[in-house]
Amino acid sequence: MSRDRQMIGDCPKCGGNDLACAYNHFESNELTIDSWEHKCPDCGFRETTAFRSDEEDAKPEDVDPHICPYCARSRS
Ligand SMILES: [Zn+2]
Ligand SMILES: [Zn+2]
Repeated sequence: MSRDRQMIGDCPKCGGNDLACAYNHFESNELTIDSWEHKCPDCGFRETTAFRSDEEDAKPEDVDPHICPYCARSRS
């Protein structure tokens, strides 16, 4: 389990500067999960997306799970 978190600022809900973008990677046997979370500590705004390797049908081919679907940054 690795964790990668960056402050990206500019909350879309309250305009605050503390919006954080967090990336999580989980791997075990056949399953790989890449998840992204945007969270604002000021207003509680939160959005998450998870890419699971066992849900290939739900994942379009052109989506890269290593790029944030919200701010388009790559995992570090
Ligand atoms: Zn906010
Ligand atoms: Zn992001």
